[in-house]
Amino acid sequence: DDRISRISSTIRVIPDFPKPGILFQDITTLLLDPKAFKDTIDLFVERYKDKNINVVAGVEARGFIFGPPIALAIGAKFVPMRKPKKLPGEVISEEYSLEYGTDTMEMHVGAVQPGERAIVVDDLIATGGTLNAAIRLLERVGVTVVECACVIELPELEGRVKLGNKPLFVLVSSA
Ligand code: 5GP
Repeated sequence: DDRISRISSTIRVIPDFPKPGILFQDITTLLLDPKAFKDTIDLFVERYKDKNINVVAGVEARGFIFGPPIALAIGAKFVPMRKPKKLPGEVISEEYSLEYGTDTMEMHVGAVQPGERAIVVDDLIATGGTLNAAIRLLERVGVTVVECACVIELPELEGRVKLGNKPLFVLVSSA
């Protein structure tokens, strides 16, 4: 699919951000290319449009960029998975580990119903801890997580392992 190579070429790699030694994959340059951005959304929509998905769960912050256009196109609701103390209503939360310390992810109570079918969307999977927290939140309330979907995977970090047997769909694999 020649759409993939175009998408890949629009992702900018910035060394030593946010810390020395990190090669940051910057998707803001993908967003500057309307064809690459549309192709990105289309590839996800083609994959999920006939899979009876009711919920697109997007992980803060870049899952909020890719998730909503996918949700609109497939006729699913969009549910934001947020950093602590951002959501105004009653929440459930899950802790997950970072390189140093832990973080928490929150979701509104009542946003999803038992038996609904979800995909979890983020821009990038590194260690998989973030997506794993999102999966746990949704499964705690009886939602079926069909798959996780990311634009970029950093395969060397083996984030797929942390997702257990949960399928992961990515467009671009990055060294
Ligand atoms: P993980 O929990 O899989 O280790 O980290 C994934 C999370 O960190 C995602 O929410 C992602 O947005 C962010 N992240 C980590 N490294 C990068 C990167 O190089 N580029 C971008 N765009 N996001 C990153």
